Amino acid sequence: MKSSAEEARIVRPSRPPVGETGRRVLVKVQGIVQGVGFRPFIYQLARRCRLNGWVRNQSDGVEIEVAGSAESVRGFIVSISSEPPPLARIVKVETTDLPYQDLEEFRIIGSRALESRSTLISPDVCTCRDCLNELLDSRDRRFRYPFINCTNCGPRYTIIKDIPYDRDKTTMAQFKMCPECRLEYDNPLDRRFHAQPNACPKCGPQVWLEDARGNVIARGDEAVVKTVALLHSGSVISIKGLGGFHLAVRATDQAAVSRLRGRKIREEKPFAVMFPELEELRRYCCLNDREEELLNSPARPIVLLVRRRDRVDPPIAESVAPKNRYLGAFLPYTPLHYLLFENAPYRALVMTSGNQSDEPIVMENEDARVRLNGIADYFLFHDRDIYMRCDDSVTRVLGGYPRPMRRARGYAPSPIFLRDPVPPVLGAGAELKNTVCLTRGKEAFLSQHIGDLENLETLRSFEHSIAHLERILEIEPQLVVHDMHPDYLNTQWALKRHDLPRLAVQHHHAHIAAVMAERGLDGPVVGLALDGTGYGTDGTIWGGEILRVDNIGFQRLGHFRQVALPGGAKAIKEPWRTAVSYLWSIDAENVERRYADLLTVRPDRDIRIILQMLSRALNCPLTSSCGRLFDAAAALCGIRQSVNYEGQAAIELEQAIEPDDGLYQGGLETGPDCILIDQFPIIEALVDDVRQGVRVGRIAARFHNGLIKVLCEAAAIAAGRTGLTRIALSGGVFQNAYISDRLERDLSRMGLEVYSHMEVPANDACISLGQAWIGAQKILVESVGPKMQGETGGPAQLNISQRNAS
Ligand SMILES: [Zn+2]
Ligand SMILES: [Zn+2]
Repeated sequence: MKSSAEEARIVRPSRPPVGETGRRVLVKVQGIVQGVGFRPFIYQLARRCRLNGWVRNQSDGVEIEVAGSAESVRGFIVSISSEPPPLARIVKVETTDLPYQDLEEFRIIGSRALESRSTLISPDVCTCRDCLNELLDSRDRRFRYPFINCTNCGPRYTIIKDIPYDRDKTTMAQFKMCPECRLEYDNPLDRRFHAQPNACPKCGPQVWLEDARGNVIARGDEAVVKTVALLHSGSVISIKGLGGFHLAVRATDQAAVSRLRGRKIREEKPFAVMFPELEELRRYCCLNDREEELLNSPARPIVLLVRRRDRVDPPIAESVAPKNRYLGAFLPYTPLHYLLFENAPYRALVMTSGNQSDEPIVMENEDARVRLNGIADYFLFHDRDIYMRCDDSVTRVLGGYPRPMRRARGYAPSPIFLRDPVPPVLGAGAELKNTVCLTRGKEAFLSQHIGDLENLETLRSFEHSIAHLERILEIEPQLVVHDMHPDYLNTQWALKRHDLPRLAVQHHHAHIAAVMAERGLDGPVVGLALDGTGYGTDGTIWGGEILRVDNIGFQRLGHFRQVALPGGAKAIKEPWRTAVSYLWSIDAENVERRYADLLTVRPDRDIRIILQMLSRALNCPLTSSCGRLFDAAAALCGIRQSVNYEGQAAIELEQAIEPDDGLYQGGLETGPDCILIDQFPIIEALVDDVRQGVRVGRIAARFHNGLIKVLCEAAAIAAGRTGLTRIALSGGVFQNAYISDRLERDLSRMGLEVYSHMEVPANDACISLGQAWIGAQKILVESVGPKMQGETGGPAQLNISQRNAS
């Protein structure tokens, strides 16, 4: 090959060679190509193809120049995309032919910083097979070292303070590499070449164990061994992880799990369980291929799985996920996790977020000592700082596709790829399950799960995430988009951002737009938003909406019949209030007599107060929420009168379902301007069954079936009226597997093209994406607008976005 290159040089020294003789190209690769072993891969590939040249990191990707036989160059370019290193994600390979010239060798050369930086930052990645082998190999110098990593694995997003991704811009900066680590780091053929978190027991971070009073009990490997023993004996241990602290107990120890529950006050959410390997997990849960793949993927999310019905020994403690048919299960993803299971007498650990109920996950050592005081008996600390907090991701498989429920570690900050380039916009997200979103060209960067913006801690985390993402992605938004609700902390934050123009977007409009952004849809579509609550344009609370959505605007085609929420937000925490409201709405005059038997869930006095509030319309905002309909149904069939977390009543109603083909028929009132879904007959039929003593499981099934039927009927009318065949589904109710599965199936059978979420959660975590997308569309339309009046040149704003994207 080299000889043909030389021939080429001799024949045509400075012009592109003709035919197969020789070729020299400049290759630009964009995507996740830094910090993932990409340059060593190129180095080895070039040597294999016998090409000379160089490779270097640029802030917008990787640049390569190679020269050699034309055939080899072609093979080289194909291999870049077809066999990249496991963690690389290639978005674009661009080649430019250069006048042929022979080059002397292949080299990795220094980085070059460019003005426009559009490199992607890798999410955190689970320990790779090679590192795991070394971790458990007694001859390896990193034997049992809890921070082993390489270019194919380890922390990324959670330790990066700034770009370009170099060690001195991460929380590893304080650890100076020992000579051995340095050699690996500098050697292009080593698996640890430029692995920024590279470390070993001599030079890297260390673990230690403290008791609740702050006494250090053990350090290094002894601390790990001791932790295993303490977990076995039933202690609650706070363990510092990748994106924050976990609270761990042995999952089969009923007393220990109850103790943890008791100490995490008001905590009733199911705990996730970590198993050492798939084989063990499979003893407790049913698994299909898709679920197995997800569990094993580099992101290592918590996957919601159906529990096996047969008794397994030892059983998972009842209070891990009380009354739950599902179990959130995951596999180890850091070296420390593997060590916690190595030679351990237990085979399952509860690993739940280390926080006080509503606060963000704890990420600093000092903070853990204070905020997890009284919850944890011991603390397993380490001294590698977490810069960006990141919870475990939660996902499940529905209809053969993964459906994220919480998108965080392992996924953030990977972008959602948009169909067309858009201007830079910030979406400030919803109040609950908040995320933020920044757009750049064809990419929409959704932050990790931030939490419920109901306290200052979470607001601080929200602000930190925005500032960080703007910095590392180098995005200067042209617009900030926020919810229409005036009282949300993030709305108020957006209103104070005087440096930017602002746009308020309706909550359910954003829901449907999020599906459109994610699935690359251009409007208009019919949107079905089934949700908890969101502020409507008419000042009432929306949440069961049929919308016609185009790229920037929407029209409300229909909705559920409105009911009053006695006490507003209080009704969300206490579903019995909504149940009373439903009964009152059905027959206000005779409610006390007609439903006396159902109004016994609370003392008479409480019920009377609610009825008075309803008849006087005192603090009784109206809502068309679908989530609240679930609340009422769950309360009326005795499943749950008050909840400890959002959506709990609905989740337990779904859990209760037993196979039954019956259904409660809902009504539809179709006026010229509105398709009104009348859910009251559904509630009346449910009440009848409750009184007849029908089993709760059957009632739950009939309620769901009825709801699906009436929604399909309403969707058909909406499609007919608009002439649209595409329907987009979003909202928290779609976390309900029964509804999701059957509604998608039935709508498709009606001949509609159904679009739902696959990369972002259907709950309020997707709001920021929808907001940013609508904002971006609005900028595009407004800047294109005047041009349509006869101008020819594109406006500056549009040009910028097109340049970024190309
Ligand atoms: Zn590795
Ligand atoms: Zn070292």
